[in-house]
Amino acid sequence: MLVANRLVEFFIGGGGFTNLVLSIAVVGLASSAVLNARASGMDVERRHFETESFGRIMRALSRSVSPDAVVEAIVHELGTATEADHVAVVRLRPGSSVLDVTFVSMLPGTPTSNTVMPLRQLDPIETRHLRELPRPQPSGGPMRLVDGAPTPIWRDGMASAVDPAAVENEATHSIRRGGRARPRAAGSVEDDARAREVADRIAYRLQDAYGLRNTLAAPLQSGQAIAGAIVLSRRTSDIWPETAVRLLNSAAFETSAALARVYSYQAAESEARTDQLTQLPNRRYFDEYCKLLASRRRSSDRVAILAVDVDLFKGVNDAHGHQVGDQVLKSIANAIQASVREEDVPVRSGGEEFLVLLRNPSEGIALEIGERIRQNVREMDLTDLGVPDRVTVSVGVASGQEAGETIDEIAERADRALYAAKRTGRDRVVEAWQADLDQ
Ligand code: GH3
Ligand code: MG
Ligand code: MG
Repeated sequence: MLVANRLVEFFIGGGGFTNLVLSIAVVGLASSAVLNARASGMDVERRHFETESFGRIMRALSRSVSPDAVVEAIVHELGTATEADHVAVVRLRPGSSVLDVTFVSMLPGTPTSNTVMPLRQLDPIETRHLRELPRPQPSGGPMRLVDGAPTPIWRDGMASAVDPAAVENEATHSIRRGGRARPRAAGSVEDDARAREVADRIAYRLQDAYGLRNTLAAPLQSGQAIAGAIVLSRRTSDIWPETAVRLLNSAAFETSAALARVYSYQAAESEARTDQLTQLPNRRYFDEYCKLLASRRRSSDRVAILAVDVDLFKGVNDAHGHQVGDQVLKSIANAIQASVREEDVPVRSGGEEFLVLLRNPSEGIALEIGERIRQNVREMDLTDLGVPDRVTVSVGVASGQEAGETIDEIAERADRALYAAKRTGRDRVVEAWQADLDQ
């Protein structure tokens, strides 16, 4: 009220020095209020933009069913929203010592580069701490990542996980030595520090490989397991804004969860197609593989099938028990696996029966591989299992020579050849044409 009265006085008359000072103060106050309002307006706008951007990332992640789709879901949105020039996603391939690197340039028309980085190229620290993401609990419900904390949803209170002062420091830091986004809602302080350390080192590695300068990195992690990193880079040495740090943090956290989910899905899929006793692919895999092959088969493509059946296996079970029988089956599976070429597909099709699919076999190779299987099984030493006798197999071989013959028809001919081998004394390899002649 006082201010208002003074203002009126000043403009209507009776001024003097006091009025001048007061009016300057009033104008200063007013303009700083305007600036503040504008700044907080910008802040709200920025938050809104962040939330929108994160929402798009979350939606795309939830639709992703493969690791590549997960990467695809985040890179462009993250790159655009953080004004990065490059986005790299580095992830440890499950069950291997290879890191898959997807490097995306935000410049239009620049192709995405996919490369691999062997773990051994990294310092011992990465090799020690990079682990596959553990599979989530099969109990369902929200995926739990660290210390039972459910995957969080994007909230406006994100700043609680990222201390702006620290962000400022780290961003300043990032110009010189590669920045890092602080992981939120992670495990112990030591785990977090280690994860950040690994993310930093991955960023250094990318700096070397791609000539990057100003990077900002966040680990892909799950508790103690570090599964890679997301690294942003920009050409200028500008400080990374708080928004970019927050968005990268959150995206890395959700990407970790999405990767754990798709890896788990893939593992379950693979398990459904693997014979648990021998670890060979199973009949389901064989059928799906043949279907796929049939749909893509060109008339010039040739296929051969070997049908393998253990001779008098009932007798092995009767003499040594079912459990020993199982171990013998495992040894036979190994012998078959060792007899085929890398491109051949051996499967346990059921009980004590196996199939091998050969694609485009050269003349005589199917028979040669059949014979190799027979020999290798015959030469197995099973005394460690308490089985002193030789175990043998019979093999039927069918090569698809007839035009238009389906894979099922080839398999049927292999089966007929197998039974011809059984009829004529077992422990032998018979070709389908011979079997058909004999009938
Ligand atoms: P043939 O030379 O005519 O093939 O004689 P065989 O005894 O192998 O044939 P048969 O079909 O009569 O018996 C197959 C046996 O394989 C019977 C079954 O108990 C055994 N078998 C099938 N699956 C398994 C398995 O997973 N583990 C074990 N231990 N035995 C199995
Ligand atoms: Mg059988
Ligand atoms: Mg048998």
